[in-house]
Amino acid sequence: MLYETELVYLKNAYQTELETEIIRIGQDETGSPLLYLDSTLFYPEGGGQPSDVGTISGPNGVAKVIHARYQQGVVAHRCEIDGNFNEGDAVICRIDWHERHHNMRAHTAGHVLHDALVQLPHPQDLFPLKGNHKNLYVDYTGSPLPAALAVELEQKCNQIIAADYETVIREVDLEELQRICDYVPANLPTGKPLRVVKIGPHSPMPCGGTHVQRTGEIGPMKILGISLKKGVNHIKYQLSDTAD
Ligand SMILES: [Zn+2]
Repeated sequence: MLYETELVYLKNAYQTELETEIIRIGQDETGSPLLYLDSTLFYPEGGGQPSDVGTISGPNGVAKVIHARYQQGVVAHRCEIDGNFNEGDAVICRIDWHERHHNMRAHTAGHVLHDALVQLPHPQDLFPLKGNHKNLYVDYTGSPLPAALAVELEQKCNQIIAADYETVIREVDLEELQRICDYVPANLPTGKPLRVVKIGPHSPMPCGGTHVQRTGEIGPMKILGISLKKGVNHIKYQLSDTAD
């Protein structure tokens, strides 16, 4: 690949507007236009976090960003274009903040759930498999968790939220990541900077997603249930709409 997209959302999850440049214009397999930018605010779908949506405005048109995906260092923005775009155009990216902020709250909440869960009595072979911020769940492999744990888990999550801990994000190398994290997934992303997030006094976790600055911003959280789905512990949660 000739260049890498600068991922501005990694530096500041609260930035909603960015001036940048069109590097390349392409098409996906269905013929939809793809815009490639020098730097981007759009989080490309991954790690359970949905793609950001929003607009890219140029001198001769506006592109509605439907989906962003990451491939080998480059973010491809699939768009519906009204007007014309050319390589070299100066453009302004604007993300849909309402959706992004929800995703940030949901993502940090998933980490809070993990930090709460590992403080409660749990099977030693428990390991986080994946999270999802659209349907709001976290999956764990390992021995079955008792469904009754949901009550205590919800209390613990809300204690962490009420403590309004800071989320501290740092870029690390692989050696440090493996040394400081208790849970390291086998399939760490390649080509992306490695990061860890640490919430208050809890252990750092590998993470490439967007987070709220403090846990209080998540608002009250509900554990909807713990169930076993195809041998995997499935923990569903919910955020309060009043926190929006
Ligand atoms: Zn994360």
